[in-house]
Amino acid sequence: MAMLVVGSVAQDTIHNHLGTHDHIIGGAAVFCALSGSTFGPVQLVGVVGRDFPQSAMDLLKDKGVDLEGLEIVDGKTFHWEGRYSDDLASRETIRTDLNVFADFRPKIPASYRNTEYLMLANIDPELQLEVLDQVDRPKLVVADTMNLWIDIRLEKLKELLGRIDVLTINEEEARQLSGEHNVVVAAKALHSLGPKTVIIKRGEYGALLFDGGRTFSAPALPLDDVKDPTGCGDTFAGGFIGHLANTPGEGFEHLKNAVIYGSAIASFCVQGIGINNVKDLSRDAVNDRVRTFHELVRFEAN
Ligand code: AMP
Repeated sequence: MAMLVVGSVAQDTIHNHLGTHDHIIGGAAVFCALSGSTFGPVQLVGVVGRDFPQSAMDLLKDKGVDLEGLEIVDGKTFHWEGRYSDDLASRETIRTDLNVFADFRPKIPASYRNTEYLMLANIDPELQLEVLDQVDRPKLVVADTMNLWIDIRLEKLKELLGRIDVLTINEEEARQLSGEHNVVVAAKALHSLGPKTVIIKRGEYGALLFDGGRTFSAPALPLDDVKDPTGCGDTFAGGFIGHLANTPGEGFEHLKNAVIYGSAIASFCVQGIGINNVKDLSRDAVNDRVRTFHELVRFEAN
């Protein structure tokens, strides 16, 4: 079943221990869409400038991402520049050039409006709300956000939380948004703002799923070739919702599986620069990695 992704489509400049990677393809919606396309069709809504390479659009189309909702307008594509610490444990944003995003108002094509799985990837919560106003109530709405919006759009973000089913958020941002240091207490506080399901992403320590009073802990795969964490959170979210949209099942067990599939795709993402290691990902490779996850945590209790 198709999933709809709305969010940033970007060119990123990344400085890390391997050098500078200038104006490479990125954006939360791109990582989400590539990841979700592993499981089924994806519809993408966003905006790019005329400088956005045709090759990137061809790549998305080849992966089954419908670009009817991608506007191409005069001006430059959104550009984000970040620098990672040598251990990749932290990063700072050096600049955010909104460019064509500055005047962007999402327009959901008529053919997307009844999509049942909606991924509101990272963008201004005001725009995420505008998307919700244009769709029929989907079966599942997942939203992601970031510290910037907690800093400058808190009221809109809280309004959004009241209208979504699942919030994916990283640990630091969960603390910032809830005002609670303990992640379990933070998840409870986030539930009280609206989302029934809260997923706290903890980078190299995996992810915690909180749903209906139950908790599931997914590991991150220990890897010896970590290259670039950019987009890992988005590939996680895209894999999570893509799996739910395209596999039968329901309830907490279904959510747990989706968290593992999302984690598996994120583990590929971190092994490449930008989208490099997720742009050609096959379903078989993902399934293999899920088996590796299973091996990693399987034990016999006695
Ligand atoms: P992640 O590493 O999962 O946090 O996502 C990284 C992606 O987020 C990059 O490809 C950026 O282009 C994108 N990004 C960075 N800042 C913003 C922002 N303010 N709004 C939307 N997307 C952003």
